[in-house]
Amino acid sequence: MVPHPNDPSLYSFVPVDPTSDFPIQNLPYGVFSSGGGLAPRVGVAIGDFVLDLWELEQDGRLNVGDLGAFSAPTLNPFMALGPKLWSHTRARISELLRHDNPELRDNEELRKLALVPMAQVKLHMPIAVSGYTDFYSSKEHATNVGVMFRGKDNALQRNWLHMPIGYNGRASTVVVSGTKVRRPRGQLKPPGAELPSFGACRRLDFELEMGVVIGQPSPMGEMLDEVSAAEMIFGFVLLNDWSARDIQQWEYVPLGPFQGKAFATSISPWIVTREALEPFRVQGPAQDPAPLPYLQQVQPNNYDLQLDVGLRAAPMKESMRICRTNFKYMYWSSVQQLVHHASSGCAMNIGDLLGSGTISGPEKDQRGSLLEISWNGTEPVELSGGIKRTFLEDGDSLSLHGWCQGDGYRVGFGEVEGTILPAQ
Ligand code: MN
Repeated sequence: MVPHPNDPSLYSFVPVDPTSDFPIQNLPYGVFSSGGGLAPRVGVAIGDFVLDLWELEQDGRLNVGDLGAFSAPTLNPFMALGPKLWSHTRARISELLRHDNPELRDNEELRKLALVPMAQVKLHMPIAVSGYTDFYSSKEHATNVGVMFRGKDNALQRNWLHMPIGYNGRASTVVVSGTKVRRPRGQLKPPGAELPSFGACRRLDFELEMGVVIGQPSPMGEMLDEVSAAEMIFGFVLLNDWSARDIQQWEYVPLGPFQGKAFATSISPWIVTREALEPFRVQGPAQDPAPLPYLQQVQPNNYDLQLDVGLRAAPMKESMRICRTNFKYMYWSSVQQLVHHASSGCAMNIGDLLGSGTISGPEKDQRGSLLEISWNGTEPVELSGGIKRTFLEDGDSLSLHGWCQGDGYRVGFGEVEGTILPAQ
C-alpha cells in the first residue's frame, strides 16, 4: 500500500534536519530561478534543496497534463488545474523523494539537474495576486486596538462578533520576502494639531498574519459553503501587513484603511498546501453568539501553527524575538472568511490572497503588532544593547516565522523578512 504523503514515518534520501521547515511531509510550492539562464519556474522545497518540477516533467517523471504549468513564472496555471491534481502531484513528488524509491535517488544525472541547493536560488513571488483582502479576525487584536482607539467600553464594534470584518486591499504592492520596504508618506494629523500635513510616516508598524492563497475561482452571484470554500484553498503563506499607524488613524473613518496599508504587504515565498496542514487542524475558540447559519462550521478549521516575530533594529547584529503566538487563537477561521467574502455574490479568482488579520494571543508577549506591543507608543520594547523601539525606524529588519510541530519533524513556512528604507 502506498503511504499518504502526510505519514509521519516517511523520510527522504535528501537529508533533512528535524528542525528544518521542509521535510518530506511538507513539500511547499514556490517559484525560483538559478544560474544557467533558465527563467523563473516552479519548485518544491525539500531540506536545503529546491526540487525543480520542470526538470522532472522534461524527464517524464511528472505529468500534470499541462506542459506550461511548471515552466510558468507563477503558480497560477498549476492552481487552475484543481484540488484533485494538486493532491496527485503532491503524492507523486513525495514518492519520487522517498528514501526507498530509486527512481530519482539512483539517477545521478537527473538528481544533479532537479535538486538545486537552496543557497544558489533566488525565490520570486509565488503567485500573480489577483485581489488582496485583509481581515480583522483575532478577538484579542481587535479588542486591544479598540481599547486604545475608542476606550474599554467600545472596544469591539457591534458587528464584530457576527461576521469576519475585512476590507479590500491592494494586490499591486504585495511583494515577496526580502523586498525592501520604503517608509511611506501621507497625510498626518497628530493629536493636538489643528490641520493635517503631508510627510513621512512616523509610526510605521508590522502586522503578523497568515495569508490564504485561493486556487480555484467561484462564479459571480454564487455563495459558498464550508466544504466548497475549503476546497478552493490551495495553501497558506506568512504575511506581513505593513501599517502606517499615523496615516491610518487620520484616514480610517468612515471607510476603513486606505493609504495607511496600501504601500506594501510582504509574503513568504513558499506556499504550504492545505493538505500538508491537515494533521494540525484544531477547533477554534467557541463562538458566542452562534454565527448566522451561512457561517456555521462543522469541521475544525483552525490550525495549531506556532508563530514568532524577530526584530533586528538597525544597530543590532542579530534579530531578537518580540512576539510568540499561535494561529489557533483566531476567532474567525479562513474558511469562514472565504464563505463570508463570497456571500454577497462576490466572485473569487485564482490567485486571490486573503490576509487573516493580525494574530494576537491572550498573553502580553503574544501581541502581533508594535501598536499593541508598545501600547500605542507608551511602552517601548527593550531590545539588546539598550536599544528601544515603539515603532519601526529606518534600517530595521522585521521577520516572521511559522511552523506546525509534528512528532520529530515540523511543517514550516520559512520566513518573510523586510527591511525599512528611508522615505523618499
Ligand atoms: Mn492587517
